Amino acid sequence: MGHPPVPNPGIRVVSAAGSPVTPGSASSGRGPGPGPGSGGGSTLLTGIGELTTNVPGGPGTGDGDPTGLVTDAVVLLDGGRVAWAGPAREARDAVAHALDGRAPDATVDVGGRAVIPGFVDSHTHLVFAGDRAAEFEARMAGRPYEAGGIRSTVAATRAAPDDVLRAGLARHLGEAARQGTTTVEVKSGYGLTVADEERAVRLAREATPEVTFLGAHVVPAEYAGRADAYVDLVCGDMLAACAPHARWVDVFCETGAFTPEQSRRVLEAGAAAGLGVRVHANQLGPGEGVRLAVGLGAAAVDHCTYLIDADVAALAGSWSRAAPDTAPGTGATSGAEAVAGTVATLLPGVEFSTRQPYPDARRLLDAGAVVALASDCNPGSSYTSSMPLCVALAVREMRMTVAEAVWSATAGGALALRRDDVGHLAPGARADVVLLDAPSRVHLAYRPGVPLVAAVWKDGVRLLPR
Ligand SMILES: [Zn+2]
Repeated sequence: MGHPPVPNPGIRVVSAAGSPVTPGSASSGRGPGPGPGSGGGSTLLTGIGELTTNVPGGPGTGDGDPTGLVTDAVVLLDGGRVAWAGPAREARDAVAHALDGRAPDATVDVGGRAVIPGFVDSHTHLVFAGDRAAEFEARMAGRPYEAGGIRSTVAATRAAPDDVLRAGLARHLGEAARQGTTTVEVKSGYGLTVADEERAVRLAREATPEVTFLGAHVVPAEYAGRADAYVDLVCGDMLAACAPHARWVDVFCETGAFTPEQSRRVLEAGAAAGLGVRVHANQLGPGEGVRLAVGLGAAAVDHCTYLIDADVAALAGSWSRAAPDTAPGTGATSGAEAVAGTVATLLPGVEFSTRQPYPDARRLLDAGAVVALASDCNPGSSYTSSMPLCVALAVREMRMTVAEAVWSATAGGALALRRDDVGHLAPGARADVVLLDAPSRVHLAYRPGVPLVAAVWKDGVRLLPR
């Protein structure tokens, strides 16, 4: 195949620790979580027909290909990290060097199949109880949507014991892993009391370092007509209880949820408590949420369905505030501080499940915005944990190329979480690897609904098949 179009050209990023990196460049693996991977042994994957590294300019990649595609490739995993990735013709010397002459502990010939980085799902709501199948059935049958769907999940979640919530979280995370997801963000937002939100972030933190405090999901029934009083609670006692367990703060900035002014209060309070900022905005109609997010330096603003030109310009511009004399994509700075921009995270499972119009991915990409794809897995508007489905929808319904969609579901998700250790396969990156039961990543969109994930390594340990 020819070189895929450039999904996100010339992006440079500042990691959470402040050091400039190029998406997909070798990294020291800073980021939350358990330090060096737990996979003590080494695994050599050979016979890879098509390897997506997301490392532009890496060994064996084509010029100008941000997905760093390598054909006839080899990947070496060692100590929970990628030790080397590149073309088979260079592998003998590179692997011997990387292992200091040791033989790998395991060698897996994948028989010409495709390998991609593990998916990074940067937007889920997985601490909940109950389901809303009846609401979905009614919506699909054309009966009017009844407001308060989120509140029914709130009631079920409040009533559930910890073990029920913990088991549900584990079940959904297992489901996601079987579909190739190796990094997951999980939000609170179905508790909406100090104790219930604290419980949600605490349980989420048992499962992932990417925990988001979303106390400002909706105004709970007991605060009906007193939204500002609820925002006081969110910014006060609730934030104080949740911040120790969370990395991020989020708010649903939308008509019917929280106003831009209320959203700003929540986000600024969260930032003052040391949390990174992410925002739900512009899902149901136009509004100020996207520009608010960019103005506050949010890592991501999610949904982005109803955008005006100023929103698109703000998103694209958030990535170009670095010094203009900095060579794009080199990761080199010229002394001026590079800026990590705001990722536009698109959630096509929502539009699929609600029959709303899809966001205009092409408009964002063509303007130079950085786009991620995520599942928004939740029991109301998008009850799928499948990143392959999101890729297929992005290609079929949003006119993203396969290369763009796979990049956005891996490297894009990593940028949305400001992680430089996942979403790509280069020396030093976490050994989070997905083997597809297909000769090419194109099959993710070409064969929708088919279980194409043949094997998953997380931190160098093979999760699947067991
Ligand atoms: Zn959401």
